[in-house]
Amino acid sequence: MNILILGSGGREHSIAWAVKQNPKCDRLIVAPGNAGIAEIAECARLDIEDGGAVAEFCAENAIDFVIIGPETPLAAGVTDRLTEADMLVFGPSAAAAQLEASKAFTKEICDAAGAPTAAWARFTEAQPARDYIRSRGAPIVVKADGLAAGKGVIVAQDEASALAAVDEMFAGAFGAAGAEVVVEDFMTGEEASFFVLCDGENLLPIGTAQDHKRVGEGDTGPNTGGMGAYSPAPVLTDAVATRAMEEIIRPTMRVMAERGMPYRGVLYAGLMIENGEPRLVEYNVRFGDPECQVLMMRLGAQALDLMLATAEGRLDKMRVNWADDHAMTVVMAARGYPGAYEKGSEIRGLEALAEDSRHMVFHAGTTERDSRVTATGGRVLTVTARGASLAEARDEAYAMIDRIDWPEGFCRRDIGWRALG
Ligand code: ATP
Repeated sequence: MNILILGSGGREHSIAWAVKQNPKCDRLIVAPGNAGIAEIAECARLDIEDGGAVAEFCAENAIDFVIIGPETPLAAGVTDRLTEADMLVFGPSAAAAQLEASKAFTKEICDAAGAPTAAWARFTEAQPARDYIRSRGAPIVVKADGLAAGKGVIVAQDEASALAAVDEMFAGAFGAAGAEVVVEDFMTGEEASFFVLCDGENLLPIGTAQDHKRVGEGDTGPNTGGMGAYSPAPVLTDAVATRAMEEIIRPTMRVMAERGMPYRGVLYAGLMIENGEPRLVEYNVRFGDPECQVLMMRLGAQALDLMLATAEGRLDKMRVNWADDHAMTVVMAARGYPGAYEKGSEIRGLEALAEDSRHMVFHAGTTERDSRVTATGGRVLTVTARGASLAEARDEAYAMIDRIDWPEGFCRRDIGWRALG
């Protein structure tokens, strides 16, 4: 079959890598792709948030299956447009994608589902939000309702910072995403990510992961898109996963179906786990980046079968064949990230790395000019390895990094510290 993947990050490179290994895949196109993706697939220029343009591209290229990587095309309704054109798509409708695109929507669904999450309230004006914050006290969390690329959440340690965050949001710091503000209680515990496929009716868990959001070692410094991840997440034991399924995810999916928004795609539940009890922090309606890289590394070719079964409503017939191993991915970013950074520096040594089913450099922000790979983004490479233990996966990933010659880049050296003890 002919497959189109939308996106250009390390996430999409890892999906392309897994899909490509499946004999069902004849032709693979990624739009817009990057230098690493170009080595294993065709890359195409396409406005991936324009459903009409994507549908036209699919018709012209006889595409049988579309996999949508990032959240923005989902929120923009690309799935809906493709479904109208009778295309098979992996990724939820715009209505179902509200589980990520609106925090107030998600909290309301959670309340209706009885899913454990932080107590909350929503506001469209500053004064009631300020009063609410004073009544709850700090620490407290202030969130812009809409999509803000991970930046619209302020975890305030004191009341003054929470009040300032409210003022900034209503002053337009996050544009339309901050027109509504959600304030919620601060939850303590350890965070982990749980990935579950849903075909509108049936659910299938496909793995767990933990990531490191802060730029600095020891989880310090400003937030980033993610500096590394590993799978599985030790804190998400089978018992916790069962509770998360029965208390949070299954009830949420039931409410979504009852309200005429059946969810089809991967549901990424960000959980806060304390004393074996999971509570929901957030839902995302797509794979995480870089969590996707460790999941794809562990799933391999079956990822395509699972995504197809999700789109076709046959998840009840599927099971996941897990290799009983671990994977880690370490992000290499341009110096300065997540602040200002230079683009265009050359990355050497990649061709000398042996890439196989246990070792892959997934590209996040690269381009190729005159057969030289250059950095074009903040997060540039995600260096991924599998091992019999997490320590082995870590050693393999850092051994690869040590052979990459890119003085303008950096990485955290402590990915996995919590799990490795
Ligand atoms: P991202 O895209 O980075 O995942 P987001 O904008 O979707 O972020 P959330 O995941 O809701 O926002 O929040 C970002 C981070 O803030 C969480 O990963 C968590 O560490 C912290 N956080 C959010 N809500 C709470 C809460 N109620 N209690 C404690 N920490 C929280």
